[in-house]
Amino acid sequence: MRILVTGGAGYIGSHAVRLFLSRGHDVWVYDNLSLGHRAAVPCDRLLVADLAEVHRLDHALLQHRIEAVVHFAAFAFVGESVRDPGKYYQNNLVNTLQLMECMRRHGIARFVFSSTCSTYGLPLRVPITEDEPQKPINPYGNGKLAVERALADYAAAYGWGYAALRYFNAAGASPDGTIGEDHDPETHLIPLAIQAAMGQRPHLEIFGTDYPTPDGTCIRDYIHVDDLAEAHLLALETLGPGKELRLNLGIGRGASVREVVKTIEEVTGRLVPIKEGPRRPGDPPELVASSEKAQRELGWRPRYTELRPIIETAWNWHRKHPKGYPRE
Ligand code: UDP
Repeated sequence: MRILVTGGAGYIGSHAVRLFLSRGHDVWVYDNLSLGHRAAVPCDRLLVADLAEVHRLDHALLQHRIEAVVHFAAFAFVGESVRDPGKYYQNNLVNTLQLMECMRRHGIARFVFSSTCSTYGLPLRVPITEDEPQKPINPYGNGKLAVERALADYAAAYGWGYAALRYFNAAGASPDGTIGEDHDPETHLIPLAIQAAMGQRPHLEIFGTDYPTPDGTCIRDYIHVDDLAEAHLLALETLGPGKELRLNLGIGRGASVREVVKTIEEVTGRLVPIKEGPRRPGDPPELVASSEKAQRELGWRPRYTELRPIIETAWNWHRKHPKGYPRE
């Protein structure tokens, strides 16, 4: 299949690109490199351009005779979306709708969309199934949900086949340690804790120790980035005209912040200096997926079902790339 991957030089995108290429697909990465990394993708597959540049998008779809789009390009910091909602609505919603219109003009009707567990807001039941009401509590989740709704309308009106994949917490790295997680600024728990263990940061701050959870810290469902990538590929292969897939992707098992820290200490053999701090606004106490639907509909099985091996791959990446990717 000829696939355009927007945001393909980013964390999850680069792992998906590598997988798609390894399975023989013709893959083109469309990335403005504002958050992505040139070194994360093969240079002969990279188109450096912005989603807002419609003529370049048009050209890419046409020139490479694209048959399906996998859309990762987005801002993904919840806190920032609260402070700067315009930035999020512009990129994650307006630019996505623009991309969808471009696709429609070119008759491309297969779309895999990076959605998020943030579309559920404060879930009433855990583990979270796809029937859970979607009531986001921040602009990031609102924008993603708006795209999900638009996709349902495109499926109805134009016969699109689409998958809205609602990720829980992406984690880990390629087991060979050649690509991995590198955000600037870094805000995610696992890389921050590993950096603290490596002495690159004075400590890890734990955001809230008074949650109604067994150890008082937030519980999340950490899923390996290669398992996420695999789900994208299966979704692409499953999609046909009018097919709608709305699927949660997690391992169905939660880990608290303290459990993550302890596992990082075991894996690295180093201490993670911690500081207990206040809650981070917008963090629900517990987000754990039920991925039974994804398993049923895609035949998907996460290869990593435990936290420890996921963290081992993250540690392998950080050890080999203590400064992350080369900066341009
Ligand atoms: N967290 C933390 N300290 C940090 C970063 C994150 O205690 O420096 C917590 C955060 O409150 C959440 C969990 O770790 O409960 C995962 O946060 P992350 O930002 O990695 O992912 P998110 O759940 O926001 O997508």
